[in-house]
Amino acid sequence: MANPSEVKVHRLETGLKKPTIAVVVPAYNESENLKPLLDLVNQTTENLSNYYWEYIFVDDGSTDNTWELIDELSQTDPRVKGLRLSRNFGKEIALTAGLELAGDADALIFIDADLQHPPHVIADLVAQWEQGYQIVVTKRETIQYSMARKIGARLFYFMLNRFSDIKLQSRGTDFRLVGREAIKVLKTFEERTRFFRGIIDWMGFKKTFVTFAAPDRTKGESAFKLSTLTQMAINSFTTFSLLPLRVTGWLGLTVVSLSIAVLFFMVITQFFFAQVYTPLAYFIVFNTLLFGVVLAALGLIALYIGHIHTEVIRRPLYIVQDRIGFEDE
Ligand code: UDP
Ligand code: MG
Repeated sequence: MANPSEVKVHRLETGLKKPTIAVVVPAYNESENLKPLLDLVNQTTENLSNYYWEYIFVDDGSTDNTWELIDELSQTDPRVKGLRLSRNFGKEIALTAGLELAGDADALIFIDADLQHPPHVIADLVAQWEQGYQIVVTKRETIQYSMARKIGARLFYFMLNRFSDIKLQSRGTDFRLVGREAIKVLKTFEERTRFFRGIIDWMGFKKTFVTFAAPDRTKGESAFKLSTLTQMAINSFTTFSLLPLRVTGWLGLTVVSLSIAVLFFMVITQFFFAQVYTPLAYFIVFNTLLFGVVLAALGLIALYIGHIHTEVIRRPLYIVQDRIGFEDE
């Protein structure tokens, strides 16, 4: 327990400090976009001078001169900080690295490097945060993605919202603001296969939305191929839902009940109505029954795996939003 006067001094000091907002930018081969992005971000943050701004660029193992550029930018702008991953780990991990490095900012803003997340929206995000929202998510108004990707996305959100324990906002993007309380919680997640958006939506907290029109990517290439997206969809599905596992079990139970019914029907008709079945017919139905038993057993195993799964991902059990009558730590 800290001495009360110490607590007071600390409060006074932090009271004098401007709150810090860290902008985290994952960048994979984005050398053409970084400078224009920084300029645009600066234009916005100039009008928000009651905050300390920090720009954290995470170079996710780029093969172009992204890192050299980050280095250059940090020399002209002291607010720029750079972090270089040893290889390409993927956006989700890059965001995590940024989150860890952003340390104790009062708010974090995740934004893509490719200018598809218009920096002027940052002002709206901050305005909502000032209203007391812990999480401010942006939604795209228009997307110029391919038909396949659009349909895939629709299907993905539909399935995930229907069959898992989170509600994911469709058209929600990774462009979002997370306040101090939520940052603290976000840092405690230990799961290896991450899906940032899902985790943030799972966390709860006071949350709101801001919409923006998404422009086309002008420079560089989208790093996401259909295969990566599919992989991501499968990952997020399996980390948030046990449905694929359960389906097997239900299928097995269905087969078992059906074949028992058929077997019953055959026995009855043979005894009372002198219907004749060949031994082969009995064998086939019996065999199907056994097959159903095996499937059902798989489903049962799936339930156990499900328990192991929830244990090993070590999500926080609950998240406290407010306390009354407790000392702040
Ligand atoms: N990105 C990353 N690592 C990767 C792929 C992408 O850090 O392996 C970054 C990329 O530089 C960009 C953001 O993640 O800032 C979104 O990437 P992209 O524009 O390729 O995705 P899309 O907009 O097509 O979803
Ligand atoms: Mg993009």
